[in-house]
Amino acid sequence: MAGVYVVAEHRDGAFRKVTLEAASAAKKIADELGSEVTAVVLASGMADACAELGKYGVSKVLYADDAAFAQYTTDAYANALAELLKDADVVVFGASMQGKDLAGRLAAKLDTSVAVDCTALAVEGGKVKATRPIYAGKVYADIVINAKPQMVTLRPNVFDVVEVGGQAAVETISATAGEVKTKVVDVVKDAGGKIDLTEALVIISGGRGMKDGANFEILETLAGQLNGAVGASRSAVDAGWRPHRDQVGQTGKVVTPNLYIACGISGAIQHLAGMGSSKVIVAINKDADAPIFQKADFCVVADLFDVVPAFTEEVKKLG
Ligand SMILES: Cc1cc2nc3c(=O)[nH]c(=O)nc-3n(C[C@H](O)[C@H](O)[C@H](O)COP(=O)(O)OP(=O)(O)OC[C@H]3O[C@@H](n4cnc5c(N)ncnc54)[C@H](O)[C@@H]3O)c2cc1C
Repeated sequence: MAGVYVVAEHRDGAFRKVTLEAASAAKKIADELGSEVTAVVLASGMADACAELGKYGVSKVLYADDAAFAQYTTDAYANALAELLKDADVVVFGASMQGKDLAGRLAAKLDTSVAVDCTALAVEGGKVKATRPIYAGKVYADIVINAKPQMVTLRPNVFDVVEVGGQAAVETISATAGEVKTKVVDVVKDAGGKIDLTEALVIISGGRGMKDGANFEILETLAGQLNGAVGASRSAVDAGWRPHRDQVGQTGKVVTPNLYIACGISGAIQHLAGMGSSKVIVAINKDADAPIFQKADFCVVADLFDVVPAFTEEVKKLG
């Protein structure tokens, strides 16, 4: 069926924040197109949660409950969605690992294109115009896909979650997983229940200036106070101080927190590519000429080993 669709992503029986952002952005687009938002939920045992998507602008949920969809696999999801969304006008995903993986595969199956990692959406001439950063964030490109469905993935934490109230109508459907060539044998969760970097609203990152892996403890303490996550530059990862999953940048994760504090990071273009669209950037660096200061909103020219503990103490006092 024609219309604007959101492919919902879930984990442990709950919808992920990227899905709520995608639903809110899709609602805005649908209003301008004179259409409505339908969410597709491929899952197992999530019937009750589906109606809640109405809060975020979804009018209707197509819910397929099948054990084959309990764990994400590219094959099962892409096969089912290719059948369900072949007549859609617009399909919106979160640009999470899953969204990026799935959108590309689905676009190929539906013989269309996908604009990835978008930071803005608009409607022009009855079509969706997507804006996305290119050349490591130095330039923004406007993209209009001249095929149907127009497909976009949205960079996490860029689009607001907007509650418009109401419950969505839930229609239970059957969807076919088709031939699935992969099997999920285990899901390994990050130890300690840490906040996912791509979803964190506050990130404190350390670079080569941290001097040693053990010194990241001061960043962990500050992150604990601010309910944030700890990231790292590639130099810190290459030195073995942090695992690769913590790397922010062109060959790491793209993050968009409300607050990004860069400690002992010079601000190479490849690092900026991962954090340049953070809402507020604070840089702490001994070198007043460090390139990170050209990107930062607040520049602290000082030794991080003086500033970070003192700042943490002040945050603690605020309770
Ligand atoms: C293809 C490619 C992909 C890459 N991908 C990534 C990527 O995804 N992410 C990434 O980060 N990099 C990436 N890089 C590497 C990137 O080019 C830089 O080498 C790297 O980001 C530098 O890390 P850094 O800022 O921690 O280290 P440095 O550039 O060495 O900077 C360390 C900074 O710490 C400051 N400092 C030192 N001591 C203190 C102190 N006590 N207090 C305060 N400041 C102090 C110094 O003044 C300096 O500015 C990539 C490179 C290539 C070629």
